[in-house]
Amino acid sequence: MKVDEAKKYHKIDAVVVGAGLAGMRAALEIAKNGRQVAVLSKVYPTRSHSGAAQGGIAAALANTSEDSPELHMFDSVKGSDYLADQDVIELFVHEAIKTVYDLEHMGVPFSRTEDGRINQRPFGGHSAPRACFSADVTGHVLLHTLYEQCVKHHVHFYSEFQVFSLLIDNDISRGVVAWDVRNGGLHIFHAKAVMLATGGYGRAFKITSNAHANTGDALGLILECGLPLEDMEFVQFHPTGLYKHGILLSEAARGEGAYIINNQGERFMKNYAPTKMELGPRDLVSRSEQTEINEGRGIDGKDYVYLDLRHIGKQRIMERLPQVYDLALNYLNVDAITQAIPIQPTAHYSMGGIPANIHTEVIKDAKGTVVKGLYSAGEAACHSLHGANRLGTNSLQDAVTFGRIGGAYMSEFVKANGYENLPANPLDSAQAKISALMDGKGKERYSPIREELQASMSKYAGVFRCEEEMLKLKKIVKELQGRFKEVTIDDKGPAYNLDLQEAFELGNLLSFSETIVEGALARKESRGAHYRNDYPTRDDKNWLKHTLAWKTAEGVKLDHSKDVVIFMDRYPPQERKY
Ligand SMILES: Cc1cc2nc3c(=O)[nH]c(=O)nc-3n(C[C@H](O)[C@H](O)[C@H](O)COP(=O)(O)OP(=O)(O)OC[C@H]3O[C@@H](n4cnc5c(N)ncnc54)[C@H](O)[C@@H]3O)c2cc1C
Repeated sequence: MKVDEAKKYHKIDAVVVGAGLAGMRAALEIAKNGRQVAVLSKVYPTRSHSGAAQGGIAAALANTSEDSPELHMFDSVKGSDYLADQDVIELFVHEAIKTVYDLEHMGVPFSRTEDGRINQRPFGGHSAPRACFSADVTGHVLLHTLYEQCVKHHVHFYSEFQVFSLLIDNDISRGVVAWDVRNGGLHIFHAKAVMLATGGYGRAFKITSNAHANTGDALGLILECGLPLEDMEFVQFHPTGLYKHGILLSEAARGEGAYIINNQGERFMKNYAPTKMELGPRDLVSRSEQTEINEGRGIDGKDYVYLDLRHIGKQRIMERLPQVYDLALNYLNVDAITQAIPIQPTAHYSMGGIPANIHTEVIKDAKGTVVKGLYSAGEAACHSLHGANRLGTNSLQDAVTFGRIGGAYMSEFVKANGYENLPANPLDSAQAKISALMDGKGKERYSPIREELQASMSKYAGVFRCEEEMLKLKKIVKELQGRFKEVTIDDKGPAYNLDLQEAFELGNLLSFSETIVEGALARKESRGAHYRNDYPTRDDKNWLKHTLAWKTAEGVKLDHSKDVVIFMDRYPPQERKY
């Protein structure tokens, strides 16, 4: 299928790819600064995965107990298992407070204390109640409020436009090419600045809390452009995924006092994190849960344990955790007021991503060389705020805060710079992908390849990892990449061609999954969410550093020379105990 180029060319100051919290907050900032900005989103904006967030958004407001940005900083440094860059965390914990008041002033209906202040609930790994929330629909209210604000400030939305290629030439970003999902056809967006805010990519795993759209498209595209990804081996598994579905039961449940119990009826977290119990950080709780299951203490000897809300009582469950209640009822037919809910660890959050500096500028090497005009924020990005393990409620805050910061820098950039020329034949790369899938003669179908990838990633690169299994996985991913080249799709039509979208997404999943496996194989230590049975301890001497991963003709190339920013006089690495 060919494209009529003339009608499908758009020239605009800034393009934001992704309409989650990061993308919309960036766009709002750019629009408020008087610049023209387009947001491209493959799903309708308010269906972005940010809207699924339940628990809360972290900020040290100290509304319900003593708290401070310094304490928030320490908790985040410790939570990250000392791999986060401390300059980024320091900026973040202070900006977080501004971000929440800014959201409040936009009209976000936060839950309130008796005396009318923003209410805050406890969350795993935080040593004070710091999660600002709106019942258990926090992401939903934030996303809708930001969407309204964007519409009010004349942000141009291109809903159901899926970016298929990045126009980067000579390390300068010049725009993107997107597929019009509704009508078919490719569009060129020629922009001075581009932000990649395509969210998380948990769909590389079979058991995941992530939405179907979370396929890491921008990560695949970055690798395709010869740019690196950072810290991809760090994937967070959330302890309370609904059994078999992976759907998230918010950590808010444990914040409100829920227990996790094994087949003996025992709150086993007392053996793993005696001071924090169920409110230990996610990596620790997931590992404890998986250990109970592996050692035969799962319920009925199966691969799940229970999340028990019963003692919390009907009134509080319905007031504070209505979504948790509904999910258990609708998917497992479990009434959480009278029954415990079957749960298992689920791939939830990706600490790694597109390397970006504290201004959200995308970088291309360990020295921090910037790709001009290219930005990234939200879960797709790795500013190294979360290191090896993210604390709950820090990522909504990450998305909104770095969205805002990125938007401010992009506004300055587009004021100061003109348009760069488009590369010759800008449509070629996207067109080639479409032609290969539509006109190819191969006999492979994409869905069996995707299923095998997801099942293998969950099995071999999950909560526990070891060399032998990851070598198997590496081989599987390579084979699947080979088979993908033989994929053809049945639907050849222009409108709502899900075959085309999903096959394109699978290409991205296969591409970045390889960097997860290679990064995890190389990192011969256990840190945060990355746990190696064969290297069970943290090794600061050799591994207190970031991973950069490129795709080359010879396979994945890794570089471990990017240092972690540590304030040795304030937060030197210590053993992590809870
Ligand atoms: C179930 C669940 C609950 C969570 N709860 C919490 C919580 O309580 N607190 C917390 O802090 N964090 C939570 N998180 C994590 C947090 O929600 C996310 O990290 C955050 O919302 C990500 O925001 P984002 O803007 O980066 O991406 P998203 O909100 O995922 O948005 C991504 C956007 O990118 C677009 N996109 C992707 N690919 C393309 C493409 N090729 N072309 C065009 N558009 C594209 C999508 O259409 C979408 O608009 C939760 C996550 C999940 C899955």
